[in-house]
Amino acid sequence: MAKNYFQPEQETMPLEELRKLQSEKLVRQVKHVYENVKYYRDLMDAKGVKPEDIKGIEDLHKLPFLKKDDLREAYPYGLLGTDLKDCVRIQSTSGTTGKRVVAFYTQKDIDMWEDCCARALVAVGATSEDVCQVCYGYGLFTGGAGLHGGSHKVGSLTLPMSSGNTDRQIQFMMDLNSTILCCTPSYAAYIGETLREKGYKPEDNKLKAGIFGAEPWTEEMRRDIEKNLGIKAYDIYGLTEISGPGVAFECEEQRGMHINEDHFIAEIINPETGEVLPIGEKGELVFTSLDKEAFPLLRYRTRDICVLSREKCSCGRTFVRMTKPLGRSDDMMIIRGVNVFPSQIESVLLNCGYAPNYQIIVDRVNNTDTFDINVEMKEEDFSDIPTGITNREKELQSAMKAMLGINPKIHLVAPKSITRSEGKAVRVIDKRKRLGINI
Ligand code: ADP
Ligand code: ZN
Repeated sequence: MAKNYFQPEQETMPLEELRKLQSEKLVRQVKHVYENVKYYRDLMDAKGVKPEDIKGIEDLHKLPFLKKDDLREAYPYGLLGTDLKDCVRIQSTSGTTGKRVVAFYTQKDIDMWEDCCARALVAVGATSEDVCQVCYGYGLFTGGAGLHGGSHKVGSLTLPMSSGNTDRQIQFMMDLNSTILCCTPSYAAYIGETLREKGYKPEDNKLKAGIFGAEPWTEEMRRDIEKNLGIKAYDIYGLTEISGPGVAFECEEQRGMHINEDHFIAEIINPETGEVLPIGEKGELVFTSLDKEAFPLLRYRTRDICVLSREKCSCGRTFVRMTKPLGRSDDMMIIRGVNVFPSQIESVLLNCGYAPNYQIIVDRVNNTDTFDINVEMKEEDFSDIPTGITNREKELQSAMKAMLGINPKIHLVAPKSITRSEGKAVRVIDKRKRLGINI
């Protein structure tokens, strides 16, 4: 396959050169932060670290961590690294796990972010001949703005659809011959489902690739989307605090996402102790931004759990690869003492032939956790014969038990009865929160 790079010099930089570049940028960035961000200067002073102590990436571990709570405490301006008059944009997190935080961008920050998204697009084959349909939400959420800017940089014809209004998405996709689709994986699945209902076959659309991210999704879901839309489905990862989508992206190998290491240093730590783990071990991903001016976070703990790999990639990129986040450390549910990730449940469902339409409901009754999963039946399997349904529920229950080690109660529900998501899907309803239980 042809090698597709947007910025080949950076993307294929020899490792030694990359390390040197990261070191130089880190020294400069620590100085910038220490001089301009009082909140972080105080953290460094409290730890007894001065900018002079950081001579290269080997000293990174000396710096204090930043957590989402710091961002909430410093909200809104406490971590600003430039004058407000030098900023041209604010974006905000989706607030999946609590109060939203805001991030600031100078024009240079926006350019760097859009370059990262352009790298992701070019990696999946985007050129100036493509029609790129962006149906991530536009607005404060970074999904729409990031891929939109990236698509402009590549010179693709950009369709700024935003999310929602699926009929119109499909009409434009067909009338304007969209070739690249950008949205959350759950929305891609929904678009695929709607296309089928309207009588379209996968080969009826002109799509060749999709860039899907902003939420966890499984390999099973990838295969499902690829089949239903007749495309190659690629993952993209990012977070508002570090810029937005495009911090890492998949290449044609579809085996992990390359982290844009010329702009961000990635570390993996033990989330309990903060200890830095060797490459290849599973832990919490931590990012240090090297070029950002307005919101220059150092050692930011993402709470996303993944594994890094330096295995050589056939695409020629030298950037380290991260696995799909297995879920956030705070996505993990502890049910009857057992750790459960929604992604495990999704794998079982898709392997058993169900569509990725499900909702997990956890509660506590009489001091015991209850664990229910509503799973939608496919139209063709839907029957009113209660025994048939009960048997299928039992089958699914034992498949779940084998994966999770505990028994959920499965409820097969009618097709279309679970609300579809146009952005990030809501997979878990944990009612124990009302009891003030720390979960
Ligand atoms: P929020 O934290 O409120 O959801 P963001 O919209 O900035 O704010 O989302 C960033 C988070 O989304 C990441 O920390 C990660 O948990 C999740 N995420 C983004 N891309 C992916 C992906 N490709 N796979 C899994 N999770 C992802
Ligand atoms: Zn690669």
